[in-house]
Amino acid sequence: MAEGLFKEGIVGGRLAPAQYADNFSDLHPPLDHHEALVESDRCYFCYDAPCMQACPTSIDIPMFIRQISTGNPIGSAKTIFDQNILGGMCARVCPTETLCEEVCVREVAEGKPVQIGRLQRYATDVAMGQGKQFYERAAPTGKKVAVVGAGPAGLAAAHRLARYGHEVTILEARPKAGGLNEYGIAAYKSTDDFAQAEVDYVTAIGGINTENGKALGRDYHLADLTASYDAVFLGLGLAGVNALRAEGEDASGVSDAVDFISVLRQSSDLAGLPVGRRVVVIGGGMTAVDAAVQSKLLGAEEVTICYRRGQEHMNASGFEQDLAAANGVVIRHWLQPKKVISDGGKVVAIELEYTAMKGDKLSGTGEIVRLAADQVFKAIGQSFEPAALNGSGPSVAMEGGRIKVDGEGRTSLAKVWAGGDCVVDAREDLTVAAVAAGRDAAESINRALMS
Ligand SMILES: Cc1cc2nc3c(=O)[nH]c(=O)nc-3n(C[C@H](O)[C@H](O)[C@H](O)COP(=O)(O)OP(=O)(O)OC[C@H]3O[C@@H](n4cnc5c(N)ncnc54)[C@H](O)[C@@H]3O)c2cc1C
Ligand code: SF4
Repeated sequence: MAEGLFKEGIVGGRLAPAQYADNFSDLHPPLDHHEALVESDRCYFCYDAPCMQACPTSIDIPMFIRQISTGNPIGSAKTIFDQNILGGMCARVCPTETLCEEVCVREVAEGKPVQIGRLQRYATDVAMGQGKQFYERAAPTGKKVAVVGAGPAGLAAAHRLARYGHEVTILEARPKAGGLNEYGIAAYKSTDDFAQAEVDYVTAIGGINTENGKALGRDYHLADLTASYDAVFLGLGLAGVNALRAEGEDASGVSDAVDFISVLRQSSDLAGLPVGRRVVVIGGGMTAVDAAVQSKLLGAEEVTICYRRGQEHMNASGFEQDLAAANGVVIRHWLQPKKVISDGGKVVAIELEYTAMKGDKLSGTGEIVRLAADQVFKAIGQSFEPAALNGSGPSVAMEGGRIKVDGEGRTSLAKVWAGGDCVVDAREDLTVAAVAAGRDAAESINRALMS
């Protein structure tokens, strides 16, 4: 368990043992065969399908849905994997309500989109359940590529490169591959160790050697990689977490939401996981909602999300906000943290200031509210940690605090590409966007290596 994450005196195990399993079961249970047929029949198989254009990986959605409706889930899975080899995870975690399903013509016309995400899960589950592999490696090219980071971007890049016959080494700092699929996604979105099953499925193509516990900047430098490999792909994600900038935030019981979620995701005994009775989460994105909902599901009595702007400004989608409300989480707006109140070094309350827009600037109004809290989570955004890139050799150009890349994912350094959350155009910071970036960078690397 991460040291300092839980303050002394906070305990877990408030719920009946069976309730933990129930609370953390699949958020969207899979469709059965009959349900998938009925749902797929709702698709109009649109020409110029808007759903496909809204998908960052451009999956041929009408095609895969048609294949399900004609009783061909294996063919459907291939249509999905052709564009997105992590289509199984994306089916579980994509905020479809703001992507493909938002623009589905049946949503526009009737307010009830085709359930594209659940259909995608149905098809990919069938194929993965049967261990069906669709791709064979091309003849070895003799080219070696290092992929740093085994998150969605790195895995997608590695798979595409292996398909082309290149020899791929994934170097991953953490003990397990998967990135935030393994350590960040809410437990009820990815059940039954699916993240690791998917890593196994992706790497089963062969030609991919994964080395865990190998951190760039600590165990080796970029210059070592560019000297030993023909190309390097950086899929480092965002390792830093923004500070609250509130007085007293070092108190015991105040911690990063992502650390809490990571411990939760790795826990084999949810009842043993300490959680406060009164939890306050600061932030307005998916991480804030995930930390809040999971605290509630672990047995916290009162959970409040405090966000410094209005409901319409929250990064968490409407669906995520509704999920929080349905789980009894209170979302309060126009509040910014000012001071953590502690007793004996342990958090007992947090003071927040009301905010308002003055012109186009957000300002504190001076009015303070105090919320009792024995646990506070910071979920106000993550940042790229450039330290890993420092070391021998010339440095990689940055922009806006992240790695600068061109339209193909090339960095300012020869032989080095990057993609996913760590690059400057990863505006969405979504799993599916990282997969698209890794896949497209791999295409660019292949072109460069074979030209
Ligand atoms: C709490 C949380 C919940 C989320 N929920 C959703 C969701 O429901 N749906 C959704 O679409 N998106 C979600 N996201 C966003 C999504 O997880 C990310 O956009 C996606 O994982 C980015 O993929 P990536 O490969 O760029 O980075 P990551 O998944 O972060 O992977 C980066 C990998 O690089 C490794 N690494 C870092 N530094 C080094 C180093 N120096 N040396 C070697 N390896 C290194 C890391 O250990 C990690 O394995 C969530 C994010 C968070 C934080
Ligand atoms: S927009 Fe909706 S109805 Fe049209 S192809 Fe896509 S899923 Fe089918």
